[in-house]
Amino acid sequence: MANPFTKDLARDRLDFNNILSFVKSLSKYKDRIAGTESIKEASLFIKGFLEELQDIEVWIDEFPIYTSFPLESEVAVLSPIAKVFQSFPNLYSLNTPPEGVTNDVVYVERGGSKEYEGLDVRNKIILADLSYAPPRPEKAWLARNKEASAIILSNWGHPQNEIVGRGAIKHVWGPLTLEDVNRIPRIPSVNISRKDAEFLKKLLEKGTVKINVKSKVEDRWVISNQPIGRIIPPQSKSMFDELLVIGGHLESWGGTVTDNSTGIAVILEIVRTLLKKEEKIRREVITNFWDGHEIGEAAGSGWFVDNYWGELNERAIAYVNFDGFGMIGTNHFISYSSPETWGFLGEVEKAVIGKESEKRLPLKIGDNFFLGIGIPYIFTFATYPPEEMEKLGNALFGWWYHSEEDTLDKVDEDILKLQAELHFHYIIKLLNEPIIPWDYVTFIKYIIHEIKEIEKSYKDVPRSDRLNTILKKVEVFQKKIEAVNDFIEEYSDKTPEELNEKEISRIKRLNKFLLSLGRLLNPAFRSTTDKYSHDPYGYSILTKPLPRVYSVLVKLNKYEESSFEYNCLLTRLLREYNYLEDTISSVIDLVDNLLSLKPNYFTIPKNSSSLFRT
Ligand SMILES: [Zn+2]
Repeated sequence: MANPFTKDLARDRLDFNNILSFVKSLSKYKDRIAGTESIKEASLFIKGFLEELQDIEVWIDEFPIYTSFPLESEVAVLSPIAKVFQSFPNLYSLNTPPEGVTNDVVYVERGGSKEYEGLDVRNKIILADLSYAPPRPEKAWLARNKEASAIILSNWGHPQNEIVGRGAIKHVWGPLTLEDVNRIPRIPSVNISRKDAEFLKKLLEKGTVKINVKSKVEDRWVISNQPIGRIIPPQSKSMFDELLVIGGHLESWGGTVTDNSTGIAVILEIVRTLLKKEEKIRREVITNFWDGHEIGEAAGSGWFVDNYWGELNERAIAYVNFDGFGMIGTNHFISYSSPETWGFLGEVEKAVIGKESEKRLPLKIGDNFFLGIGIPYIFTFATYPPEEMEKLGNALFGWWYHSEEDTLDKVDEDILKLQAELHFHYIIKLLNEPIIPWDYVTFIKYIIHEIKEIEKSYKDVPRSDRLNTILKKVEVFQKKIEAVNDFIEEYSDKTPEELNEKEISRIKRLNKFLLSLGRLLNPAFRSTTDKYSHDPYGYSILTKPLPRVYSVLVKLNKYEESSFEYNCLLTRLLREYNYLEDTISSVIDLVDNLLSLKPNYFTIPKNSSSLFRT
């Protein structure tokens, strides 16, 4: 769906010196953590800069964030030797009594539910590695559920890495509701360096290791500092009703350079360049600088989605996330993005960086609350090649992550420039392509793949007839959406200037249709909660095929058929099947409605499927 209007990519429009200068200015605000002067000053710096540009509304959203502050922690090996490690308390940890908790250590590798199989860890002290799966809060949640008395997290990086990383274990993603309070894992938790953890593992190889852990934090409400800008396209050029949301987290630990002053700096330069209007801005842009990202587990972006929900639901075409840009030693591009965006992203990537990023499903992690509504998520960044990642203990965001060591020497200017260019082009195209470039054929093929995965992994799926019905309907939908793609192709060669009034109104209708597909399909197939609520932070189940169905099947498998629990879970499973089938019926209705407008409304090209010809 290449459009010649944006085929000629605007290179070198960004001023890279500006980006570097923003990184330097922003990283002076170290430890810019919710509720501190540092983030307040950084947010005023951003507001001040944006206010000097023309045609952008700028303000700071102030709202309550429930955050947590570190007070003290201690990790002391008592036997077979005596040794005290450097440590940092995980925020929202349960405070230990003054004497701490003492017990034997059990090492559970990455600390996912699989690693606990066959282990009795009641009252034990867990040692787990900081890999990205499951995320830190889920590790704490699992340890708490297994009735461990504390959890120690080993930092990632090289085995000799002495940095003690920082983090939080709230587990509840975004702002709290009263019901959420009990989902905060109430367990003492501390971080130690990878070097000390490796030492501990060596001791464990020889026998029992007794340890004492102390942790103390203070949880309280603070007021946010969350700058926001809104660029409204001039009426004469505004052909389309949609809006694009872009953002990166302002709240940052330690030195803040690559996490995330670089991301914020790229946003500022893109906004500055857009407002010079060398490129047209045909869609509205909202740009965000999130507070409450690190400790409040994305409390700021969660608040934004809850508070701007109606507008986002009606009009947002995507959320583009800027995080972890320009890390030294990285060259492997990964994109955790919604499948319907993969084709579009791949095209831009080939043109700008000469290769496609590795595509992965978006996780409900970081500031990605938009996916809950059904708004596609785009997050592309460069990390280490797989061989290097292995050596670094899966340090996806660098061994200096969340520490004082996140300094200017960790920036690779070439990779930062490439990422800035890439995102500028994503955005230019998204603001100017007449038809939103989302391809639901890719999404649907992924669903078919997932249904087959479920059938393969679970030999006797209860009520597999229902799963079959869903599969058949999905295949019908696939054929119909392929036909829609055929006539989208008809319009894709036209520049916005070549479109007449009638064509513009058709395109508006098509875009509304494409947004509606996402709003229905994503909450059904890429979520386990309703579209007004949020899954737990980084919920691992969402990486599994058909998460709604999978989340029931894993439990069902543990019970005897016709037991009390089995029967109750079967009811749950049927309701999840109902949700999926109903969603597919609804999207089929949407396509049928769209296609029923032809021939007056859309011309079906000669070479398209004969499915809808009368
Ligand atoms: Zn980050």
